[in-house]
Amino acid sequence: MPADIVISARGLAKHYGPVRAVDGIDLDVHRGEVYGFLGRNGSGKTTTIRLLLGLIRPTDGEVTVLGARIKPGVQSVFARVGYLVETATSYPNLTVRENLDIQRRLTGAPPRAIDETIILLRLDRYADRRAGQLSLGNKQRLALARALLNQPEALILDEPVNGLDPAGIVEIRKLLRRLADERGVTVFLSSHILSEIAQLADRIGIIHEGLIVEDLSREDLHERSRRCLIVGVSDARRAAALLDRQLGITGAEHTPEGVLHVFEGRERAAEIARLLVTSGLDVTQLCLAEEDLEDYFMRLTGGAA
Ligand code: ATP
Repeated sequence: MPADIVISARGLAKHYGPVRAVDGIDLDVHRGEVYGFLGRNGSGKTTTIRLLLGLIRPTDGEVTVLGARIKPGVQSVFARVGYLVETATSYPNLTVRENLDIQRRLTGAPPRAIDETIILLRLDRYADRRAGQLSLGNKQRLALARALLNQPEALILDEPVNGLDPAGIVEIRKLLRRLADERGVTVFLSSHILSEIAQLADRIGIIHEGLIVEDLSREDLHERSRRCLIVGVSDARRAAALLDRQLGITGAEHTPEGVLHVFEGRERAAEIARLLVTSGLDVTQLCLAEEDLEDYFMRLTGGAA
């Protein structure tokens, strides 16, 4: 395996009776890369992450992290990997600092790592507060702090921005980006929020019903979202029929609000406007737009949420 591949899965599957939670996944995450694992609820993200971490036994396939084959129960590689799986659990009766101290002893991090990580995650105001009394967002910060305490080479994070407010989300996004760019940390993170992943990840794997249906760079994602000409018109249904009949432009979609979306032939705006006006329709809007990435994701994973 090439040395710069930090996380790798081949034919990875986990079936629960008839439920194919993960159904044969191949993936490679390179050193210093932020890999976004995007999928709707129930698509298999958490199961994949548990498999990557050796927390559950695969039905089939194999995982390698930092060159070590992952076997359930064998934890040796995890001194070098920080992870966060689903709702983070800390010891609720212990303070933030005490929780981090336990983690420090488990991972062998130096004592100064506690204060450094508290500052990094902006937990200084809460350092002596019991974990159980923290807000959801700060619980999540504490979980991230535990994952980062030992300066890991790789991070495997399930929904890391869960529960954070918008400012917190931006902050964690910047922090993860910085760790990847400045320290070469490899980050694998899952999310069901496309905009989150699109802003952070270098590469995106879209998982649907246990399968990776797309593996693409951030640039690819922007390219694949469809461009369309938006036409505000007094009778969108008739306008679509006119485009088809008179100009051979097929596939125009009209929204319930009476707006026409023209995909094929979108560059023929002047012709389209002329035809509609000379046919007695009022044209109120004409602009070129990019299909929302969220729409692209929905289209790929089968319809509205
Ligand atoms: P979410 O975003 O809601 O957390 P997810 O993408 O993480 O979803 P998973 O939790 O991996 O999805 O679940 C994938 C599928 O596997 C779901 O249909 C789920 O019900 C099923 N599943 C997960 N764990 C088990 C289990 N222990 N036993 C049976 N089915 C399971």
